[in-house]
Amino acid sequence: METNSKTRAIKEELETKLGSIDNLKSLNDLKIEYLGKKGKITQLSSLMKDLNNDEKKEFGKNLNILKKTLEEKLDDLAKVLEEKELNERLIKESIDVTLPATKVCVGTDHVLNKTIEEVEDLFISMGYTVEEGPEVETDLYNFEMLNLPKSHPARDMQDTFYINEEVLLRSQTSPVQVRTMLKNKEKTPIKIICPGKVYRRDDDDATHSHEFHQIEGLVVDKNISMSDLKGTLEIMAKKLFGENKKVRFRPSYFPFTEPSVEVDLTCFKCEGKGCSMCKGTGWIEVLGAGMVHPNVLKGCGYDPEKYTGFAFGLGVERIAMLKYEIDDIRNFYINDKRFNEQFGVTKGGNNNESK
Ligand SMILES: [Zn+2]
Repeated sequence: METNSKTRAIKEELETKLGSIDNLKSLNDLKIEYLGKKGKITQLSSLMKDLNNDEKKEFGKNLNILKKTLEEKLDDLAKVLEEKELNERLIKESIDVTLPATKVCVGTDHVLNKTIEEVEDLFISMGYTVEEGPEVETDLYNFEMLNLPKSHPARDMQDTFYINEEVLLRSQTSPVQVRTMLKNKEKTPIKIICPGKVYRRDDDDATHSHEFHQIEGLVVDKNISMSDLKGTLEIMAKKLFGENKKVRFRPSYFPFTEPSVEVDLTCFKCEGKGCSMCKGTGWIEVLGAGMVHPNVLKGCGYDPEKYTGFAFGLGVERIAMLKYEIDDIRNFYINDKRFNEQFGVTKGGNNNESK
């Protein structure tokens, strides 16, 4: 019978093909080739119509057995191949924990920020609040309200970047003091520090930068005296630079304070014995300070008959240079990772690379 020989032929063909299947894709292709809608076994059914009833019955039975056997074989083979492919993938995708890790490069606090934060923390612990203001300022707040009218010769002390006649890049953080005093409508006592960036038309060299940072302090209250200023700066010197630091006032001149003083600290290097850093004097000039000029108080709405105040201003770069013996101010701005990492506190994470 023709049908029987065809069935047998397909069966034999399948035996050979099944033996060579080694992956799920070719298994699926084979399934379609024989069992799909136009598959070889499905097509065999079309021979049915030319057979008599007995033949139909036998052929149908054989065809079903062939189909079922093939399906079972394919299912079994699929299970084996799936497991095999999974194992292969597991081996291929496994992670070798002994390989060196990709190093994560973590930034550090900048030494200037670190210095600012140290000063802030100290003054906050003494009841001060931190005030900030704009870097683009008006001539009014940067100079005039600080007792520096337009014609004042002391304006030459600060070579300023002007944007137009009335607007400038602030040359000091003092306008924040003015803003804070004006903002305080009830004219209650004030105890603030103002950290921030300032700008002056300096040629950059080892000790000058057109852009640097200041921290100013201002206290306005009844009965504030020069000894309050000295006491405050003595605490600052000891806390920031060491218990053995002493403070010395020398008379000076600033338009916004009267009297004004330059403040020296015991030399950082020789502790007062005299060395090249302090030019043999044992003292290092660190900041300027004084009693707030009555004109400034008056201009900001405080009655100078009732209120007095002190103010001081220090350069953050200068403090950091003295404290860490940094000899060139430009080091702060060139962003050399090796420089920054010497002072920075790592912000968490894997920083092994830099160690
Ligand atoms: Zn010295």
